[in-house]
Amino acid sequence: MSIHELSYLKEKIEDLKKDGVYRTLPILEGPNEAEIILNGKKVINLSSNNYLGFANHPRLKEASIKAIEKYGVGVGAVRTIIGNMDIHEEMERVLAEFKKEEAVMVFQSGFNCNAGTIQSVTDEEDLIISDELNHASIIDGARLSRAKKTVFKHADVNHLETVLKENRDKYRNILIITDGVFSMDGDLAPLPDIVEVAEIYNAMTYVDDAHGSGVLGTNGRGTIDHYDLHGRVDFTIGTLSKAIGAIGGYVAGSNTMRDWLSHRGRPLLFSTYLPPAVAGAVIEAVKILMSTSEYTDRLWNNANYFKAKMKELGYNIGNSQTPITPVIIGGEDKTMKFSRRLLEEGLFVSGIVFPTVPLGTGRVRCMVTANHTKEQLDRALEIFEKVGKEMSVI
Ligand SMILES: *Cc1c(COP(=O)(O)O)cnc(C)c1O
Repeated sequence: MSIHELSYLKEKIEDLKKDGVYRTLPILEGPNEAEIILNGKKVINLSSNNYLGFANHPRLKEASIKAIEKYGVGVGAVRTIIGNMDIHEEMERVLAEFKKEEAVMVFQSGFNCNAGTIQSVTDEEDLIISDELNHASIIDGARLSRAKKTVFKHADVNHLETVLKENRDKYRNILIITDGVFSMDGDLAPLPDIVEVAEIYNAMTYVDDAHGSGVLGTNGRGTIDHYDLHGRVDFTIGTLSKAIGAIGGYVAGSNTMRDWLSHRGRPLLFSTYLPPAVAGAVIEAVKILMSTSEYTDRLWNNANYFKAKMKELGYNIGNSQTPITPVIIGGEDKTMKFSRRLLEEGLFVSGIVFPTVPLGTGRVRCMVTANHTKEQLDRALEIFEKVGKEMSVI
């Protein structure tokens, strides 16, 4: 047998099938909206991070088209050579104002931003202390760093303090990293307490607020704003790919941080920069957010309505403090089957199972958006009631 048949991968794929977690990529025929055409069928969409409906918003599209007409479709270089246009600089100014920080550095994605930032602001004299449930891009970013790494128990500030006490004198800098919002359960990091112990032990803080930006705080300013911690977190990560509706990721903080990243943020040095259409859309999105709370209000109203009704139906929806609504089903096979049955009935909610979440805590994760109508949410709830009873989940 030829090595080029990749039989070692074929075997692993067979294992996925045996475990009931094999899947094909869903194909969307049209924009990401509250209702979508998926694999040829119209279904309600409770699976996207398009919290505010900005991914197909007419004002963002118009701003993107204008940017294309003025600047073209690509930047033709990495940012540090000549891939940096005035529209990118404006995007960062607008974001810095929105986040109430001195400066913002935008990367090509949130994943890239974590990969590029963590490794460049730490080195072998340092220690990274990471919440055990942090996002994969933080884990990968930390792997790229020469710093020592350790974890603290999820959202457990007492444990974090123990780790700090044990280690503070052994390292030059300590960087505490946590998600702001944990995307699998929708819970918040206990940031006021984390920031307080960080200050006591003279450690730096790094908050990845990918699911908080555009969702929490005044006009969607994020988890830092929600807890009123402005000026006390060293690095705040946000994504432009979720609530903001486009693509990209940023770190908000000081001018020094931005200056350093422009020299050592490897994705900015070795990967072509974002197209101007993205910068145009992002500027427009932030302008909309700063001028009205209409979208964030609608998001929260829809989420609160949906969560209350799911509880009434008897579902276990965990302890989410955000619009993210995990619906715990249990076993891996059962979870995937539940998700397939929902889809057959006209509702797309993807199943999330081990290893993304612990064994036996498989779930379908519902992402309600500002754009869902009450009629669409009610239809989704009817489907949940039908399939839940059929499969003895409720
Ligand atoms: C989604 C997410 C990212 C990645 O953001 P992208 O812009 O999609 O690359 C990073 N961190 C967290 C916590 C996320 O939820």
